[in-house]
Amino acid sequence: FDTAFHQTMDEEAYLYAIPYRYYKQFGIRRYGFHGTSHQYVSRRAADILGKPYESLKLIICHLGNGASVSAIKDGRCIDTSMGLTPLEGLIMGTRSGDVDPGVLEMMAGKDGKNIHEVVRILNKESGVLGLSDGFSSDFRDLEDAYLEGNNPAATRAIKAFVLRVAKYIGAYAAELNGADAICFTAGIGENSPVIRELICSPYLEYLGVELDKEANNIRGKERIVSTPSAKTKVLVIPTNEELEIARHTLAIVKGK
Ligand code: AMP
Repeated sequence: FDTAFHQTMDEEAYLYAIPYRYYKQFGIRRYGFHGTSHQYVSRRAADILGKPYESLKLIICHLGNGASVSAIKDGRCIDTSMGLTPLEGLIMGTRSGDVDPGVLEMMAGKDGKNIHEVVRILNKESGVLGLSDGFSSDFRDLEDAYLEGNNPAATRAIKAFVLRVAKYIGAYAAELNGADAICFTAGIGENSPVIRELICSPYLEYLGVELDKEANNIRGKERIVSTPSAKTKVLVIPTNEELEIARHTLAIVKGK
């Protein structure tokens, strides 16, 4: 299942700070998603870097319509941004990502909505679609408008999206105590040089991230896009969830 790769997280990473009985009785905890993609990309990063998977500290940014970041240390996932459901973490196409739960109470109270309606709005009408005041959830539209420079709603959405990704990378760099590489994947991560650059510079310069602008100018190709001297490497790795699932299936069929 798409949560399996994240099962290696320690309890301090997967527990919510709510009464413990909610975890004991109902299994309410952080599970994470996109595990198949995070696993494929992190293993592939080790191949590209020519280092043992178990020796690396990696931050994987799966940026698509759904989006999540994960931290991989010594070959196991130690944290990831999605939670009990895919709603937690990054700002996504139509999902809000992290919000103060007090916002839910106020949306319900002020707007006459019940909890299910509020959660539906957070899933389906929020994210960059909500931030851009309904302009688009598609990063191709948002990026074009951002580059034209005369659409404040699109600019607002892009800036907020990028800031949230940078915050999670910063948090995971702390958890990992530094990172060997940051990897970008999925629709936006693979195809948007602009978003990759906005995340890396200036936010990640303190980590020794140095983007090679020419190398970064690619879409949908596997490549190291940082300069040779960069302390923390930046990689673009198109995800391949189908191959990862096939590998798992083969392992099961072979009884491994
Ligand atoms: P996914 O969920 O991985 O299929 O990713 C979908 C997202 O990737 C959508 O927001 C697309 O707009 C975005 N995307 C696909 N191609 C590009 C591109 N060339 N530039 C920017 N965003 C893109």
